[in-house]
Amino acid sequence: MGDLLTSLTLARADVDRAAERRSDPAWLDATWADPATRVLVLHRGKARVVGEEPRLLLAEPSQVEHDGVRVLLAVHEGTAYVALLVDGAVEPFDEDARWEGLREVGSLLSGFESSLMVAAVALANWHAGHPRCPRCGVPTEPSDGGWARRCPDDGSQHFPRSDPAVIVLVIDDEGRALLGRRAEWSEGWYSTLAGFVEAGESAEMAVRREMLEEAGVRVDRLDYLGSQPWPFPASLMLGYHARLAPDSPIARPDGEEITALRWFTREEMAAGCQDGSVRIPPPVSIARRLIERWYGAELPGSWSRP
Ligand SMILES: [Zn+2]
Repeated sequence: MGDLLTSLTLARADVDRAAERRSDPAWLDATWADPATRVLVLHRGKARVVGEEPRLLLAEPSQVEHDGVRVLLAVHEGTAYVALLVDGAVEPFDEDARWEGLREVGSLLSGFESSLMVAAVALANWHAGHPRCPRCGVPTEPSDGGWARRCPDDGSQHFPRSDPAVIVLVIDDEGRALLGRRAEWSEGWYSTLAGFVEAGESAEMAVRREMLEEAGVRVDRLDYLGSQPWPFPASLMLGYHARLAPDSPIARPDGEEITALRWFTREEMAAGCQDGSVRIPPPVSIARRLIERWYGAELPGSWSRP
C-alpha cells in the first residue's frame, strides 16, 4: 500500500472541536455572549472572505443579529469559534468582504479556516435537509451546540450523517490511468470515477461494483490512499488507486453517468492539458490528488477545469 495522501485540501488541519462543551448550555450561552468569540456567518453555503489571499471575515457575536442555527465549531488557543448558519437575508457588515463558497476558497484558506468552513457547510446542509423528526414528523430543534437535533415530542436525538463514496483511479499494467467524462461536463473535462457506497456494502465492494457499472472494467488490487469530507451535500470521499485486472473487459462508458472514457499516459495527459484540450479536477478535490499521485508531481493550477 502507498503512503496515504497528506494535506488533502479540505482535511488539512485537525481542529479541537471541543466536543465536551456541546452538552454544557451555560458554557455555550457565555461563549455566545463573549466579545472574544469569533463568529463565522454562513449564508446559504457561503462565507464572507477578505483579501487577495482569502481569509474568513469573522465577526464578534454582537455584530451578528440574524436568526440561524448556532454551532460550536472549535476552541483554538483559548478562543471559541462558532458558526451562525443563516438562511434568510443578511446585512453586509464590511463592504470590503465578499461571499464565497467552499469550492472557490477551500484551497486558498489556511488549513484551520478551511476546516472551520467545511464543518459549517456540512452542518448547514444537514440542518437544512433534516428539519423534522424521522420517527414522528414534528419539527426538531438544534441541540448539543448545533451537532444534533432533538425531537420535542418523543425526545429522540438525531445526528449529522456523512454518506461514504468511493473515488477511484484505475491504472493498467502499462501505467496508464483511466479517466472519464461525466454526462453533464464540457468536452475535454476528465476525472476519476466515483460512486456512493450502497447499503450493506463495504467500500471495497463499492469500488469493484462502480468500476464495472460505470466503465465495464474489473479491478483487482486496491490501494486506499485517504479520505476527505466533501459536504456537497454530505459526502465522505474515500480515495483509491485500483489495478486493472488482467482478465478485465475493455473499458466502455455506461453512456448514462459516464459518456467518455480514455486511457492516458502521463505524456498524453500533460500534452492535452498544455494545449487546452484536456482539463482535470481542481486542487480542492481528492480526484486531483489521486491523479497527481499517479502522475508523480503536483500539477499546474492552469490545468484545472473551472
Ligand atoms: Zn419525534
